[in-house]
Amino acid sequence: MREIQVSQIIETVKEMCIEANHFLGEDMVGALNKAAETECSELGKKILHQLQDNLDIAGKDMIPICQDTGMAVFFVEVGQDAHVVGGDLTEAINEGVRRGYTEGYLRKSVISDPLLRVNTKDNTPAVIHYNIVPGDKIKFTFAPKGFGSENMSKIYMLKPADGVEGVKEAVLKAVSEAGPNACPPMVVGVGIGGTFEKAAILSKKALTRSVDEHSKLPHIKDLEEELLTKINNLGIGPAGLGGSTTAMAVNIETFATHIAGLPVAVNICCHVNRHSVREV
Ligand code: SF4
Repeated sequence: MREIQVSQIIETVKEMCIEANHFLGEDMVGALNKAAETECSELGKKILHQLQDNLDIAGKDMIPICQDTGMAVFFVEVGQDAHVVGGDLTEAINEGVRRGYTEGYLRKSVISDPLLRVNTKDNTPAVIHYNIVPGDKIKFTFAPKGFGSENMSKIYMLKPADGVEGVKEAVLKAVSEAGPNACPPMVVGVGIGGTFEKAAILSKKALTRSVDEHSKLPHIKDLEEELLTKINNLGIGPAGLGGSTTAMAVNIETFATHIAGLPVAVNICCHVNRHSVREV
């Protein structure tokens, strides 16, 4: 058993909150740069240049990339030989979020009850997805999620007979309905298979994969490429004002499912597809 102090987890999470809200990964920066070069519409190009400038200013002046600094979402891989000491893992993550959002002057967007709607004033609690894995380390993937794009996400419980054509239709319908509300150019995360909730989690996990990377499954890689082309042919464009760049990537994750079903979840992320990954 390897011991990991909660103090180390709190500090790590705090830093991740601040980092992810000010800097995008190299993959996302590269995708924005590429889009700015290839975009057909002049207005679309101009918007993409503004997004590039915004990103530069965010990193240099330490101003968040977007005013919506998101709800804190974590995927946590806990090594089965790691022993957390000095406190509780979930509380340590929430304490890190509390400190990150307070000390980093990030907007606090979380309310304690979906109907009573009182702000918790520290952006907690985080949404945490745990996974137990071999090893003695804990790996955190932090993905703050803005709700402009989250609100445009969809889940479809398709029938097996709908097949791959049904999947394509569902993804295109979700993206078309999202339109400008998802702050395009977007990254489209798709989860296919599992159960109702598994598909949704897969679609969110898909957003944390590099936009440069395709699925390792050849038929899914083909589907990612085909859907990206079809989405960009919709003409929604940067900021929804028309153009050839509606999405920068379609990332699909799949899982086994039941003979009677074909769940498809579409989790849309805006151009601020932020994440930070650390291991302790
Ligand atoms: S959807 Fe993204 S870009 Fe739009 S307001 Fe939310 S975080 Fe910002």
